[in-house]
Amino acid sequence: MPATSDADVFASPWSHLPDVLRTHGYAALQPGPRVMVLGGVHGNETCGSRAIERVVAQLDAGELTLLRGQLTLVPVANPLARRRMAREGERNLNRLFVPTPQGKEPADYEARLTDLLCPLLDRHEVLLDLHSFQSVGEAFAMIGPRDNTGTLEPFARAGEEGLLALHLRTPRVVEGWLDVYAAGLAQRQRAGVAVDESAVDFGRGTNEYMRSRGGYGVTLECGQHEDPAAPEVGYRAILSTLRLLRMIAPDPNEAPLPQPQLLRLVSVADRLHADDQFVRDWATFDAVAQGEPIGQRADGTLVRAEADGFIVFPNDEALPGTEWFYFARESERRLA
Ligand SMILES: [Zn+2]
Repeated sequence: MPATSDADVFASPWSHLPDVLRTHGYAALQPGPRVMVLGGVHGNETCGSRAIERVVAQLDAGELTLLRGQLTLVPVANPLARRRMAREGERNLNRLFVPTPQGKEPADYEARLTDLLCPLLDRHEVLLDLHSFQSVGEAFAMIGPRDNTGTLEPFARAGEEGLLALHLRTPRVVEGWLDVYAAGLAQRQRAGVAVDESAVDFGRGTNEYMRSRGGYGVTLECGQHEDPAAPEVGYRAILSTLRLLRMIAPDPNEAPLPQPQLLRLVSVADRLHADDQFVRDWATFDAVAQGEPIGQRADGTLVRAEADGFIVFPNDEALPGTEWFYFARESERRLA
């Protein structure tokens, strides 16, 4: 494993984390849903790990009791990335999340993790994947496609998935990741860039894998990486998931469900050059009007909003050739 010279690493409680996937499994004596919760798919996103450790401690202490079904929690899905307190180890674990074909050697560190996590996910039907994000902004949930029998991501559990997202009580829910990713590839192809047949598989992450196995999954972006409230958001989300599925006791004081704003991702823009700059510090879900400048390319060209909509995942530290920001519009879909 390559050593890192990052001095911050010595301040991290995870700086000596071994290359071992630690999982916590709980099985109630009554049958029920099989839920998996992932934290630390991206190494610098610690809120999910902290949320999971809190739930594990409460389950172990008897402060929380699993009434039915099975619950598996993985606090740190990418130990190398966490040790480095970086998004990736050798690459992004939340891409190309498909098992290595039989007879082939895993290509890298993340492929080895994927090969461990996929059989584990196969034993579950619901995935809650806890993340945080770079820019300032409020928590949001990400869901997959609507029910469809297409080839990209056929799905039949959009109702259950939407209901889970609703119960995570974020002010916003975002739909349509893989669609936009695939459209982005097609856009590059039309621009004359050679795109491999299997390139769309690179856009498949943990939730896409869970859906491909007959389950459903929601990504919860708990807040900004350093937001001290983010671990609490993740913790409440785990409990809300378990309550919705009647796997823990109901909360008699539960507040009524909010009606979140639902947005549909419609496009992605890559950063092409290290000198591509945003025209201002965007936060996720900042509203923009059609034609409004969002960024400026290295050659001076302005990148403008294609319609009235919202900026999602602006990343002013994106490496050239990777996603600079996503663009979303209001969706007419209803979750309940
Ligand atoms: Zn993440």
